[in-house]
Amino acid sequence: MELKLERKLKELFDTDLKHACREQVYTALMAVTGEELKDRETFAGRRKLYYVSAEFLIGKLLSNNLINLGLFEEAKEVLGRYGFSLEEMEEQECEPSLGNGGLGRLAACFLDSIAALGLPGDGVGLNYHEGLFRQRFVRGSQREEKDPWITPDGWLRPTGVHFPVRLGEHMVTSTMYDIDVPGWKGGKNTLHLFDLDTVDESIITDGISFDKTDIQRCLTLFLYPDDSDEAGRLLRVYQQYFMVSNTAQLILKELEERGFDPHQLHEHVVVQINDTHPTMIIPELIRLLMERGLTMDEAIREVEQTCAYTNHTILAEALEKWPMRYLEQAAPLIVPIIRELDERIRTRYADPRVQIIDGDERVHMAHIDIHFGCSVNGVAALHTDILKKSELRHFYELYPKKFNNKTNGITFRRWLLHCNEPLKQLVEELIGPDFKDDSSRLQDLLAWRDDPQVLRRLLEVKQEAKEAFRKDLLQHQGIQICTDSVFDVQVKRLHEYKRQQLNVLYAIRKYLDIKAGILPKRPITMIFGAKAAPAYTIAKDIIHLILCMAKLINSDPDVWPWLRIVMIENYNVTRAAKVIPAADISEQISLASKEASGTGNMKFMLNGAVTLGTLDGANVEICQLVGEENIFLFGKSSDQVMKLYETAGYRSRDYYEDPEIMPLVDFICNKRLLAMGDQKSLIRLYQEIVTKDWFMTLLDLKEYIAVKDRMLEAYEDRESWAKMMLTNIAMSGFFSSDRTIAEYNRDIWHL
Ligand SMILES: *Cc1c(COP(=O)(O)O)cnc(C)c1O
Repeated sequence: MELKLERKLKELFDTDLKHACREQVYTALMAVTGEELKDRETFAGRRKLYYVSAEFLIGKLLSNNLINLGLFEEAKEVLGRYGFSLEEMEEQECEPSLGNGGLGRLAACFLDSIAALGLPGDGVGLNYHEGLFRQRFVRGSQREEKDPWITPDGWLRPTGVHFPVRLGEHMVTSTMYDIDVPGWKGGKNTLHLFDLDTVDESIITDGISFDKTDIQRCLTLFLYPDDSDEAGRLLRVYQQYFMVSNTAQLILKELEERGFDPHQLHEHVVVQINDTHPTMIIPELIRLLMERGLTMDEAIREVEQTCAYTNHTILAEALEKWPMRYLEQAAPLIVPIIRELDERIRTRYADPRVQIIDGDERVHMAHIDIHFGCSVNGVAALHTDILKKSELRHFYELYPKKFNNKTNGITFRRWLLHCNEPLKQLVEELIGPDFKDDSSRLQDLLAWRDDPQVLRRLLEVKQEAKEAFRKDLLQHQGIQICTDSVFDVQVKRLHEYKRQQLNVLYAIRKYLDIKAGILPKRPITMIFGAKAAPAYTIAKDIIHLILCMAKLINSDPDVWPWLRIVMIENYNVTRAAKVIPAADISEQISLASKEASGTGNMKFMLNGAVTLGTLDGANVEICQLVGEENIFLFGKSSDQVMKLYETAGYRSRDYYEDPEIMPLVDFICNKRLLAMGDQKSLIRLYQEIVTKDWFMTLLDLKEYIAVKDRMLEAYEDRESWAKMMLTNIAMSGFFSSDRTIAEYNRDIWHL
């Protein structure tokens, strides 16, 4: 490593490690790592997987790549000897913001695990120049700015591969860019990101605004551009068709290069469709196979056995239904195929609920995936059950064998080995290194459950991570927090179903208590981090309330010594890797039945936080693993919640009128808050909670407050808390994405 760095510095800057500045060392380190990756052999096999996703939230890659190349320790040591640190190198790397949240991060963890298991499988997506958006807080509100991440010394490589794509009236030509995905013990796969050379960043005017009808110049500027208007929705359809047309052409090109015939597609290719965004790959593949001489029947039969679909949500508004005229405008070539697929389903099944095109000429994307794919999977046991029993019941009755569960996972290489070195070292010292290859070995930690010295060391490791996060927050946002307080953390996309507003109502409760002289045993630091979709008004109102509460408390010396609220700006993978190791309490408080799985919950568990949550998504499986004595549960069950929806049995006003709840909700419109913030926004949020509250915040509020208070009480028994931490870490092995990927391969991919 040292020799290679010296050689690279000489070549690029005519300098050496002794004299180079930090920017030069960074550039050299990136180049050397890139060359090591290039020399790696690509995984190959009889069958190849294409994981198609509109999002890949890959995070910074330098350390991850060094770990997977086995060069991490050496690089650290060499840099250290010359007065540099790997951390300061990483600071210079841009994080690609190619994802929203959980779904995109899952795709990134999966790519890492596919390569770790030595399976031939590439990711395919789009090369959004400005990512999702960069979040800024301005006067207590979210502001969106572009988030450019492509730099000359980054990981993105142009390939010289181009495909023609018909977008509406126009033919365009794509360019494929590649990012290497190294395996944990050799070999590599690739993430392919398609782009359009005519895209023009100069059309972005203010923040993230641009002319959404100028498709050739805006197509791959942003992920999920604002879809609150028709032009935004149409742009999404253009993006989706562009993504899958390129993917389908790449698949057939590689199939032919491997010496196979289009008639053998399903024997040599499997396509995993990550949520419905890539659904149009089904008609597009059928179309291209017919161009190559297959009959429609033959083409459908091949594609049916090639494509598999993952469902990520049961929120009605997230199940895509595109008006036929959008498809006619953006993707005219596949419209006749979609109509033919619809006809075939109509002749087979009379039930209007399973048709592809509904009475309003809207195309139900998930229905295409279910009828014309070989597998439908949910992402946690409870979620898959709900799909079978309720949301997709009519499909489950038609195709019981297609349905299966694949509980999500996370890559332990990033979410333990890299983000929490002190914990990794302690674990390794206690149980040896085998857990790195076989995460279930973490259970060996249970042997130390009653060892006071080990428990004390675990608390010290947590303290160290809290100290590191304190410094990180001070450096990035100039906010000082106290590491003797409890770190109570809720970081995830902002959505009403995730119920950040429930957590804020707890903050209001504590604020009022402290003002009344009822002090907590120990100061509490409530940490939030969340981006809101640009057009999601109520979500932005909730961010505004959090920031107003933070300001109110900061200006009140009665309160801030006991309660602090901080909100991490621009929450992303980099920030996640800093805050998660530092968390004491993991807030997983979605309305039961609404969170398909969650993966944040798994990252916290692995890093020794204790979960405060509802029995939703993968929390159910966490509870089964650690036992009810090592998790804090509250709230109505998913069955109870679904019944309330069915019977329209929830009226928020009835709960609001409870004398314990009313003052908390009313506080949103308290005079001091209104004077401090945006009145319109606060009043709107108040009204929403009192009159609608679609995600039933008030339903669980009293129990949430009681259980959280009990949890803070439990925190004071440090030894028994450490025991809970240890149990959570020990039982988290199930949530390795290596396990998830092994299951996908066993049941669906057969690579
Ligand atoms: C893991 C992760 C998420 C998903 O968090 P959930 O709590 O499962 O919603 C979102 N954003 C980032 C940056 C993550 O790392």
